[in-house]
Amino acid sequence: MIPQLTFRREHALAIIEHSKAHAPLEACGLLAGKKDRVEEVLFVRNQAQSPVRFVMDPYEQLQAFEWIESNGLDLLAIFHSHPAGPETVSPTDIAEAAYEVVHIVCFRKDGAWSLRGFWIEKGAAREVDLKILE
Ligand SMILES: [Zn+2]
Repeated sequence: MIPQLTFRREHALAIIEHSKAHAPLEACGLLAGKKDRVEEVLFVRNQAQSPVRFVMDPYEQLQAFEWIESNGLDLLAIFHSHPAGPETVSPTDIAEAAYEVVHIVCFRKDGAWSLRGFWIEKGAAREVDLKILE
């Protein structure tokens, strides 16, 4: 488990803007970087086009994986949005978690958007501290 993920404010804002633009549908994407530091956010189309679930478009996901590898980075996190909450990963998110990376939820609560990170292992989620640099 990674206890903390560090990224710049512009990355957090990009995720929030992307999530806002796709609401009420869920949006998703990948965060790439080194160790616990995010260097790039890659958006992937939500093939499910649903307000309550996401399925990454396999072709765009593959392209994103190739970009990450060709740039010498690692996949650090997967994000998706919860335009209508909850602010944590859902039971479905936990059941469908396919990668040992941080799972970031971009959620809307009382009209404001924010991010939380989770590590999913053995059917349980633990919070990962998201450190956003100014
Ligand atoms: Zn979810």
